[in-house]
This record gives sequence, structure tokens and C-alpha cells, in this order.
Amino acid sequence: MRICRSRREWPEITSLRHPRARAGVGGGGIASRRNTPRAAARAEGGALLADLDAATQAHGLATTTGLNSDTGLIGLTLGGGIGRLGHKHGLSCDNMVSAEMVTADGRVLNASAHENADLFWGLHGGGGNFGIVTAITYRLHPLGPTVLAGSLVYEWKRVRGAVRLYADFSARAPDALNTDAALITMPDGNHGFSISAFYAGPLDEAERVLQPLRQALPPVADRIAPISYVQLQKAGDASFPRGRRFYWKAQFLRQITEAAADALIDRFPFVPSPRSFFVFQQVGGAISRVPATATAYANRAAAYDSFPVSIWSDPAADEENIAWAREMYAVLRPFGMGGVYVNNLGDEGHERVRAAYGENYDRLVMLKRKFDCDNLFRLNQNVHP
Ligand SMILES: Cc1cc2nc3c(=O)[nH]c(=O)nc-3n(C[C@H](O)[C@H](O)[C@H](O)COP(=O)(O)OP(=O)(O)OC[C@H]3O[C@@H](n4cnc5c(N)ncnc54)[C@H](O)[C@@H]3O)c2cc1C
Repeated sequence: MRICRSRREWPEITSLRHPRARAGVGGGGIASRRNTPRAAARAEGGALLADLDAATQAHGLATTTGLNSDTGLIGLTLGGGIGRLGHKHGLSCDNMVSAEMVTADGRVLNASAHENADLFWGLHGGGGNFGIVTAITYRLHPLGPTVLAGSLVYEWKRVRGAVRLYADFSARAPDALNTDAALITMPDGNHGFSISAFYAGPLDEAERVLQPLRQALPPVADRIAPISYVQLQKAGDASFPRGRRFYWKAQFLRQITEAAADALIDRFPFVPSPRSFFVFQQVGGAISRVPATATAYANRAAAYDSFPVSIWSDPAADEENIAWAREMYAVLRPFGMGGVYVNNLGDEGHERVRAAYGENYDRLVMLKRKFDCDNLFRLNQNVHP
């Protein structure tokens, strides 16, 4: 850090996942212990979601991570961390017990509710703005190893009813149930709608809770079945193959109204690539019971994160694929909350960073001045000191 400062070089912190990644922050390591009710795991910089899931599930434990197992754990956590267990146990950052960080002036600090509590507040969503986090200790919860999860797929001719069903069912879901959904193109080239369900609890209870959803509207495929949690956490990896081109633009929603659904359904069929989709990722539940100013992560009132994901191969098709995603974002914009998840931001300008932090932005600026007044850590979704 001292050399970087003297040379005025801006370090880029990365866990290797992002396409711009150049170097890792370390080999990564996990240690977990079962000591219920206070089970915890310590993960070091460079660890991936898959590392944490494997190490904790070996003890029948888990905590909230994301949907793609090769995402960097610390990067995901510092921005929030939205995943299947969020509805029941909160964001990944909500499960942070403590963190170890190297500051811009080369000191090693610990942050927790009792030590450097202001920094600890900022590490709950403030990203890599304050320093290089070398380790995080997470609170763990009993889970699995087998859970009930999978998807229901509906034909396009039923899409309006299926989106309505998803909006109603997900809005009433108990904390243990997480449901995401997507407008998709099916392998036969027809468009469709898919609801993914996951229940964090006993299998018989899960069957009971999911029965009304499975019986409400006939799907073309019902792929809900018992599966190992570790396997489930890797199931989404195939949707984001390495070497493709990606673009997405996200916004939070409080609800999925009929007008919002109609706007998306009317625009979706113009999708240029069959790999692309539009996703609703459920938040709410335990995430929204934390007050918005209690952590840097501000958009607690949201019920869904929502975004078109464009995936294609040919650089010559960049324009049309990016344009489609921007149009899908734009048609939904009148129904959005104005907020965005910082970890879903690309290079979208400072106003969008502010939108990620809302009323917490000014407090983040104060923290940035305290821990990185020269803005050494600026190659990120930057809080300006
Ligand atoms: C395919 C895909 C799927 C995703 N799915 C989800 C999901 O389900 N849920 C979800 O919440 N998010 C999801 N995300 C978003 C993800 O949380 C962000 O991309 C996150 O920034 C990834 O962190 P990383 O370490 O892998 O990436 P990197 O590019 O390595 O890091 C991103 C940023 O995080 C910061 N950072 C990383 N490591 C450190 C560190 N040790 N210390 C300080 N700062 C650090 C830096 O500012 C860095 O610029 C997904 C992203 C992708 C690409």
C-alpha cells in the first residue's frame, strides 16, 4: 500500500471473477467449525463461493452466498451478497461476524460490532472502497445436505398467468422459501417463463409449501426435486459460460404489478440471442427486516432485484444485444424503486453509485475520508472522498 501511494498507482482489488481481473488477493482458505448455535467460518481473500459452500456443508451448515459458484466470496459480500438463503438469513454481509482489512496506509485492522464499528458498518455493502479485506468470518446456519429445489417451466402462451402466479406466490412466501424467475428462450427456440424454487428446511415441509405453486398452472416441465445444496449452488454456472459476451442493467422492485409484467412480456420477444434472459431475483424477508441505515447496503425495502442479461458470442452483435437489455431496463424503469444493487453495476456513472447507497451515501463519504482520503482504492464503484 505504501509503495502504491508513493508511486500514485491505484491498486485494483479482485478475486479473479470479473473479466477485468488481473491478479488475485491471495490463495483463499476456509476454516469452519460446528459449534451451534454460534457456528462460524473464516474465509480468506481469493476464496470462491464454491469453497465456502463445500467447507460448510461438510458440517451440515451454510450461509447466504450468490447463485454462481465461481464468484469471488469477499467481493460479493462487501457489496451485499444476494442468494438463495437471503430470504431466511439475510444478505451475505448480514452474516459477517468480523472482517480483517489492510488499510490504504498499510495497517491491518479488525472490524466487528465491537471493534472499528464504523468501518464494519461500511463493509456491509460499501464494496472495496476502504481497503483490502483479507478475511471475513461468517455466521453459519444448519442446512441440508439435501434440499428441495428446482424449476417449473411454462409455455409462452401461459406467460401472463405464470408471471401473475409468481408475483402472488413469491410475495406471500415464508422466509424459508426463495423463488427467482426468468423470461427465457427454451431449447426448441420458443420463449417461456421459468420459476426456480428453493426451500431451506425439511423435505416434507418443503413439499407441502410448494404444492400450491406446482398445482396452480400446468407447467411444461416440473424439475423440482431433492438435490444436494452444494450441487444446487453450482447449477447456475452453465448459464454464464466463460468466453461469451455479457451485458446487464439492474434495478430493484417493490412488487411486480400487472402493468410491469405486461411491459416486459411485450418487449422480451425482441431478444436477439437465445442465451439471454430477464430475471427476477427475490430479496425481501430477513433482508428487509434490517433497517436501511443500519448498514451501508441501503435498498432493504426491495422485494426483487430485476435485470435483463444479454449473453452472446459475436462482437459484431454487441450493439443489438446491449440495446435489447437497455430497452428491457427502460420499459421497467417507471415501475422501479430507483435503487440498484452495487454489485450489479457496470461502468454506469456516479449517479448510479449514489442510487445504490441512497440515504447512506453521505455517511460512506465520511468513512472514505477517514480510511482512504486520497482515494487510493478508486478502481471500483467509487465513493468520492
Ligand atoms: C456470473 C455472475 C453471477 C453473479 N451472481 C450474483 C448473485 O447471485 N448474487 C450477488 O449478490 N451477486 C452476484 N453477482 C455479482 C457479484 O457479487 C459481483 O460481480 C462481485 O463484485 C463479484 O466479486 P468478485 O470478487 O468475484 O469480482 P472482482 O472483480 O474480483 O471484484 C469486484 C470488486 O469487489 C471488490 N473486492 C473484491 N475482493 C476484494 C477484497 N478482498 N477486498 C476489498 N475489495 C474487494 C473490489 O472493489 C473489486 O473491484 C454475479 C456476478 C457474476 C459475474
